[in-house]
Amino acid sequence: MTTAPPLELPGWRHVYSGKVRDLYVPADTAADATPAHLLVVASDRVSAFDHVLSPGIPGKGELLTTLSLWWFDQLAGADGGRAIPNHLAADHTLRGDDPVSLIPDAVRGRAMLVRSLDMQPIECVVRGYLTGSGWAEYQAEGTVCGIRLPEGLNDGDRLPEPLYTPAFKAPMGEHDENITFERSVELVGAETAAALRDLSLEIYRRAAATAEAHGLILADTKFEFGFDDAGVLTLADEVLTSDSSRYWDAEAWRTGTTPAERMASFDKQIVRNWLAQNWDKQGEPPALPDEIVERTRERYATLLGLLTGA
Ligand code: ATP
Ligand code: MG
Repeated sequence: MTTAPPLELPGWRHVYSGKVRDLYVPADTAADATPAHLLVVASDRVSAFDHVLSPGIPGKGELLTTLSLWWFDQLAGADGGRAIPNHLAADHTLRGDDPVSLIPDAVRGRAMLVRSLDMQPIECVVRGYLTGSGWAEYQAEGTVCGIRLPEGLNDGDRLPEPLYTPAFKAPMGEHDENITFERSVELVGAETAAALRDLSLEIYRRAAATAEAHGLILADTKFEFGFDDAGVLTLADEVLTSDSSRYWDAEAWRTGTTPAERMASFDKQIVRNWLAQNWDKQGEPPALPDEIVERTRERYATLLGLLTGA
C-alpha cells in the first residue's frame, strides 16, 4: 500500500518513517548532527508479517501512545518496583505535562517527545507462553529459538520459565531474524547482551504481574533499548502495547478448552488470523474488511480500559 506522506509539523523536520511510527527532529538540527530529542509520532497504520496493511485502525496511534505512557509510568515506579530508565524527555509521564507543550497540536495524544538514544539492533523478545512463531518452531523442532523445551506442550501453554529470545533488528525493508543469545553477544558484546537479557526479563516479570492483577495474561512482548549520553541502558520505543505484545483474557485462558478459546486476545492477532486465511503471503496483502478493522479497534480500546481504567 502507499502510505500518506508524513505531516508537516511546525518546528520539526521529518527524518524517518517506520512501519507504524514517524520520527521527527527539531527543525534547526544540522543535517549531520544527532539531535538531543526526537518526536515519535504513532500513526494509525497497522502492520503484520512485516507488511503495512490498508486501511489503518482509526485511533490506534493515540491508543498505543496512551498505553505506552501508562506503562512507562508503571515501570518508572508507579507499580512499586525500582525505576527503569526510559527515553521520555524530562517528566513526560502521565504526571508531568511540561514537554507536552513542545508537541504540535496536530499530533497531540499520539506523539512522544523522547531523548534520542544510541539504539541497539536487537529486538528483545520475552515469551512467557508458547504460541505464534515459537509454537511453530516447537512443533517442528521441540525448541523455541534454539532453546529445548519439555515435550507435550500445546499452543497457548505457559512456559516453565519466561524465555528471552532475541531477534536481530533488520535494516528497513528486511525481515527481523531470530538469533541465539550467543549471536547477540557477537553483535553487541557480552556485557550489553547480558544487560539486555536481564533487563528484558525483569520488565516482563513486572509487567506480567501487573497485567495479571487486571485479569490479563501478558503472553509475550518485545522491547527495544538504547544507550543515553551517560551510557545508561534505557528503555525506548513503544512499550507493552497491543502492537508489541500478546495479551489474553486470563479467565478465558483458564477455562477455555481449545486454543482459540484460551487465547482470547487483546492485540492484533485478529489481523494476523484474518491475513493467514486470506493471503498466500505473495505480493501485496489484501485490504482489511471493515469488520476486522472495527474488531481490532475495539480490542485495542478494551485493553487500554482494562489496564488503565480509562
Ligand atoms: P523499522 O524501523 O525497521 O521500520 P519499525 O517498523 O519497528 O521498524 P517503527 O516502530 O514504526 O519502526 O518506528 C520507530 C523507530 O524509532 C524504530 O526504528 C525504533 O528503533 C526507533 N526509536 C524508538 N525510540 C527511539 C529513541 N529514543 N531514539 C532513537 N530511535 C528510537
Ligand atoms: Mg517498531
